[in-house]
Amino acid sequence: MPFEFQGKHVTVAGLGVSGVPAAKVLHGLGARVTVVNDGADERARAQAAELEALGITVRLGDGDTLPDGTELIVTAPGWKPTKPLFTAAGQAGVPVWGDVELAWRLRRPDAAPWLAVTGTNGKTTTVQMLASILKAAGLRTAAVGNIGVSLLDAVTGDEEYDVLAVELSSYQLHWAPSLRAHSAAVLNLAPDHLDWHGSMEAYAADKGRIYEGNHIACVYNVADKATEDLVREADVEEGCRAIGFTLGSPAPSQLGVVDGILVDRAFVENRHKNAQELAEVSDVNPPAPHNIANALAAAALARAFGVPAAAVRDGLRAFTPDAHRIAHVADVDGVAYVDDSKATNTHATEASLAAYESIVWIAGGLAKGATFDELVAGAAKRLRGAVLIGADRALIREALARHAPEVPVVDLDRTDTGAMLQAVQEARRLARPGDTVLLAPACASMDMFTNYNQRGDAFARAVRELGA
Ligand code: ADP
Repeated sequence: MPFEFQGKHVTVAGLGVSGVPAAKVLHGLGARVTVVNDGADERARAQAAELEALGITVRLGDGDTLPDGTELIVTAPGWKPTKPLFTAAGQAGVPVWGDVELAWRLRRPDAAPWLAVTGTNGKTTTVQMLASILKAAGLRTAAVGNIGVSLLDAVTGDEEYDVLAVELSSYQLHWAPSLRAHSAAVLNLAPDHLDWHGSMEAYAADKGRIYEGNHIACVYNVADKATEDLVREADVEEGCRAIGFTLGSPAPSQLGVVDGILVDRAFVENRHKNAQELAEVSDVNPPAPHNIANALAAAALARAFGVPAAAVRDGLRAFTPDAHRIAHVADVDGVAYVDDSKATNTHATEASLAAYESIVWIAGGLAKGATFDELVAGAAKRLRGAVLIGADRALIREALARHAPEVPVVDLDRTDTGAMLQAVQEARRLARPGDTVLLAPACASMDMFTNYNQRGDAFARAVRELGA
């Protein structure tokens, strides 16, 4: 049953990237919209003024009180489920939707199906690879979610699509109870955002929602049993299949790798005997193990949608990763300098460190409660040296002392803008020809930089100064 917005009292929780467009769309549909927002800073006041000019009510500085008469809340995905606003909504029997739920409900009846991707790491890359493959197959599509087109624009705009490649975060999935994808993938599951979800179980359960009601395929990571468990627990449409991806040789109903070739043993006739070659490992950019896994997941979703093998190859060849994701900056004196500033947690950094044989590792920043023992122990053999920066660098230094005492460590006790140049100079000193100097901080950047982009740019600038 389509939801009738005309005359409904809808409270939008949170201004910002999802709240402002949501408020406008709801207002346009005839709803009586009130926006509530915790802060009242300059940006919030400017956004409020813009909405008020349209006749939308905005309450700044009070995101916890449920406005009288509210019949529906549409929340920014980041708002914690434990907020008093939601407790009040629960008591009053008011439903709460996130931005994804709103977009899902506003789809036209004949709208493009969604191929959805979640996971702790690799979402953006996989969704972009998927869109590239779908485009190579001649389909009208877009990568939507965090990047590119917003979901709301994709479903309410004039542009026509055959299929959408949709990135979904665990927060968004939490607030999207009725989403039903054509097919979906969970790439991996590692502890992240646990303060928001409350526990690993709750985090996994929210990620697992992506499989609910899938029509054709639930794609999971064979190497990450937790993702397969989520498929088993999901309630799916009759005939929907569980499809694994693996860096090893694929069993029937899996995609995997054989002798440097990505192969499909899922979407082929007689999968017990046959396999279809899709692409070569060297078609994946960069061909690091975790990225091949991303490519296999993207290929699985595309194949579930009926895309031919040649389009998988062409789409992967045409794909270039976004900046700061294992970006090769330069070679200086036989040493490669690689920027993976986007590796902001230990799980991402683990994948990054696994991609190179001999590494001078630049790491550190804000640890967000992470521990580094497992990461360092796993990578110890490949570390030529380490250069540590940022507020929580002592945590990494201690883990290195415990698990890699032989590895030389330079601890930079400064957080000014020149720190990255010095870090790169120290790394150069430690490196030998054939090594890789890898910025994969395993930490957030906000102690020293505005964001991971700025951190990666500072690294690239410093490398260019070396080469000059
Ligand atoms: P997300 O959108 O989930 O944040 P991205 O594609 O932007 O993911 O990649 C973020 C970081 O995670 C990259 O810098 C890379 O080091 C790492 N990464 C990418 N894919 C994977 C993967 N499949 N497993 C582990 N780490 C990954």
